[in-house]
Amino acid sequence: NMNATVIGGGLAGCEAAWQLAKHKINVTLYEMKPEKKTPAHSSDLLGELVCSNSLRADTLENGAGLLKAEMRLLGSLVTACADQTKVPAGGALAVDRVGFAQMMTDKVTKNPYITVKNEEITKIPKEGCVVVATGPLTSDALSEHIGTFFGNGYLYFYDAAAPIVTFDSIDKTKVFKKARYDKGTADYINCPMTKEQYEAFYTELVNAKTAHLHEFENNKVFEGCMPVEVMAQRGRDTLTFGPLKPVGLEHPETGERYHAVVQLRQDDKDGTLYNIVGFQTHLTFSEQKRVFSMIPGLEHAEFMRYGVMHRNTYIHSPGVLTAAFETVSRKGLFFAGQMTGVEGYVESAASGIVAGINAARHLEGKSALMFPSTTATGALGHYISTFSGADFQPMNINFGIIDGLTERIKNKRERYAKISQRALTQMKELIAREL
Ligand code: FAD
Repeated sequence: NMNATVIGGGLAGCEAAWQLAKHKINVTLYEMKPEKKTPAHSSDLLGELVCSNSLRADTLENGAGLLKAEMRLLGSLVTACADQTKVPAGGALAVDRVGFAQMMTDKVTKNPYITVKNEEITKIPKEGCVVVATGPLTSDALSEHIGTFFGNGYLYFYDAAAPIVTFDSIDKTKVFKKARYDKGTADYINCPMTKEQYEAFYTELVNAKTAHLHEFENNKVFEGCMPVEVMAQRGRDTLTFGPLKPVGLEHPETGERYHAVVQLRQDDKDGTLYNIVGFQTHLTFSEQKRVFSMIPGLEHAEFMRYGVMHRNTYIHSPGVLTAAFETVSRKGLFFAGQMTGVEGYVESAASGIVAGINAARHLEGKSALMFPSTTATGALGHYISTFSGADFQPMNINFGIIDGLTERIKNKRERYAKISQRALTQMKELIAREL
């Protein structure tokens, strides 16, 4: 019986369905949109990017860059659509949010092996080959069922999203375009601050009113998505060493140095929208308008979307999922995406590829394909299935979780480049042998 069910039409679900279809398996893909939407989703399309429009670095000295390179070898749908809808973002792969999701939707819905059904699924299907990829905001009923399925190992925490302003509303006399250290193209809009401006902004930021989130205080915030006001509370200078770092961002004409620089990143293909980099927040909307308008250039900014905070649900995967993202207790049942404890768009998509390939192999009667932890793809599966510490937290891909080299190379860039070369070689060999 060559049929599979995929639940969730996000980044991981679309990738899993795509891989199954490549194996000529008939897939029913269930997506609850547009009827029902999570607090972070707003479009009716599949493959929606809920916050940043960046798929992060695209060079091989970076874990996310290596992961994307491996995904391209594996025939990833997400990287294919991203490469075709990219917008300028220096060394990063950023995309036109709507163009990207539209292309994902078109490719999936037109695939003869995939049938999309717009329905909410509230229980894991009892039988058959299933991939559950309902994301960090899995609907309540299904969350509850998954919790029961796994028993006690079920966690949740909160995450944040950054505000978006219109390009037209930015005061161009106060800002400048420049790449840090003039490396690459000048894609970012920089909003420079003097010491006095920063101090005034800082004081308002740490004292601003936050939306009341009762559960938030008791929950962990993932470092990579920390609200800007929470980071600010760590100390007066924390932001100027973090997202507001001024080094390498002197004024291109006058050479003037600044105390802090807020960066804006293009959010759509036409450049009509910009997001405030690193400004995930849970300030109330009116406070966001008041405090963020103190940023030079944003005095009259029109906010197209305010920053928000959301639940982020994930499974305690070690012990219950394998490195192939298959449940230990039931063969042929897979989980994929952010809910497995990988963190980020690219990582979620990569786990969908692994789950999809292995779901197909399960149906074909083949043994699971374990990607080696010398590859970024394999390292993710290895991390979520074998983590042994007390505090399992969603993890971005990074060289720390990929196997090191046997030889010693002191220079970090050289070392990372070498690890990447090894990973890509092994991935090519694996693909030639197994896929
Ligand atoms: P999703 O992309 O969320 O896809 C899940 C899909 O399943 C959705 O379409 C949903 O509608 C559907 N669904 C849910 N429940 C059901 C059900 N019961 N039945 C049928 N369908 C269902 N990562 C980054 O790299 N950069 C960021 O800037 C970033 N910002 C984030 C901001 C927020 C607020 C959150 C919550 C997460 C963010 N992430 C970010 C983390 C993560 O990369 C994204 O959540 C990513 O979309 C996860 O991909 P996914 O495929 O696992 O889930």
